[in-house]
Amino acid sequence: MSLQIAFDNSYARLPDRLFTRHGATPVAAPRLIALNEGLARRMGLDPASLRGAEGVAMLAGNAAPEGAAPLAQAYAGHQFGNWNPGLGDGRALLLGEIVGPDGVRRDLQLKGSGRTPYSRGGDGRAWLGPVLREYLTSEAMAAMGVPTTRALAAVATGETVLREAPLPGAILARVAASHVRVGTFERFAAAGDVAALEALRDHVLARHYPEADGTEGLLAAVVEAQARLVAQWMALGFVHGVMNTDNMAISGETIDYGPCAFIDAYRPDAVYSSIDVHGRYAWNAQPQIALWNLAQLASSLVPLMDSEEAAIERFTAILDGFAGTYQAEWLRLFAAKLGLPADRADRELVENLLGLMAAGGSDFTNTFAALEDDLAGTRGSIAPLRDQVADRAGLEAWLAEWRGRGPEAARMAGANPRIVPRLHLVERVITAAVAGDEAPFHTLLARATDPFADPGADWTTPPAMDERVTRTFCG
Ligand code: AMP
Ligand code: MG
Ligand code: MG
Repeated sequence: MSLQIAFDNSYARLPDRLFTRHGATPVAAPRLIALNEGLARRMGLDPASLRGAEGVAMLAGNAAPEGAAPLAQAYAGHQFGNWNPGLGDGRALLLGEIVGPDGVRRDLQLKGSGRTPYSRGGDGRAWLGPVLREYLTSEAMAAMGVPTTRALAAVATGETVLREAPLPGAILARVAASHVRVGTFERFAAAGDVAALEALRDHVLARHYPEADGTEGLLAAVVEAQARLVAQWMALGFVHGVMNTDNMAISGETIDYGPCAFIDAYRPDAVYSSIDVHGRYAWNAQPQIALWNLAQLASSLVPLMDSEEAAIERFTAILDGFAGTYQAEWLRLFAAKLGLPADRADRELVENLLGLMAAGGSDFTNTFAALEDDLAGTRGSIAPLRDQVADRAGLEAWLAEWRGRGPEAARMAGANPRIVPRLHLVERVITAAVAGDEAPFHTLLARATDPFADPGADWTTPPAMDERVTRTFCG
């Protein structure tokens, strides 16, 4: 069966300074590691064709399918607060856009496909570890209902990538609503290129926010989407780890799973990234950082307004709306984790539980799942609530208050995952895969994409002392 894909490449029709047309660098011996058949079908792609020689060649960058318009996107960004005007896809290529039978337009991108004009000192490649991590984490996030880029496939390249040591190379086929970032707008604002900014604005309005009105409508829509997104991260104990403006998608999807982590033993200032030495992107810093990034987006949109004065006034009001949206969404999500409607919960009730969890280093995921078990009177592979929280007296007092609010287990549906791709689990399956055994990766993927089912004790036990991963790397 031959590979036929109906590409419709709207980004490639934008002014050509937004990107550089560029092909992938072929790899020695491509081999399919994983294919997301459900996503393929939703995109109107035939899984059998993708598994065939032509399909794997496309997913490895060895052959560009008919209709693709491979390009590297140009962007800029604030990295840990420092301005970098010259970023771009240094190891990724947008193959093109596909409108699925569901009417949804999606980017198909290869990550790890070789050097581009934006590679700077980099090799343009990815090794197996980060590819499997992004595959697992993005698919788990999707299964938990979090807006995110998706993984269509992972391919082994048969080549070695040199990091601290020689490691097996891999390519991720990533799918996104789009790959336009805050940093994309920043780049053309900094260059004083109003025509490019206009084209970009109209592109993302049409693609993501067709109901929004003009520049202000766009900013308001992105502010709302990001406020909701970060609230979801918080409710899952998710630490993105590298919230640079080039890693914040205009669509409101989570993007660029690098040194990300799910918190095991809860502490509000949890940081995992080895390079985040000041905790800029700590768990509890994420809302403020999102707002800071959105302020950079607002600055970039100023040239699209009639007057700077009016822009500042209007944009300030829009940015001021972030806090209200975020707080309402945060309360709604945490209330659901407690089996309550938002109007029967309040910030204090949630914070009091989090305080008890922080004091004793409770496991974030398991404490909420155990709360659900406690209320429902069920008992799965997760230790009971009274074993999760060290301060028993404090817990009993909190439970009395909580029960008084009338929590219902039915309201917790979809709120408390029983498995998240914890660092030590991801580490374990990567180590096995590097040694040639990919079965654990597939098992973890299956469990983590069914996050509200009991996955069994192997997957719910928090890391033992010697399994704890305290530092993550960008890969
Ligand atoms: P990240 O921190 O992964 O979001 O990447 C920041 C920038 O570095 C982006 O412009 C990437 O394209 C680029 N980059 C990261 N890794 C590589 C690599 N191995 N080769 C070339 N460019 C890279
Ligand atoms: Mg160009
Ligand atoms: Mg990035």
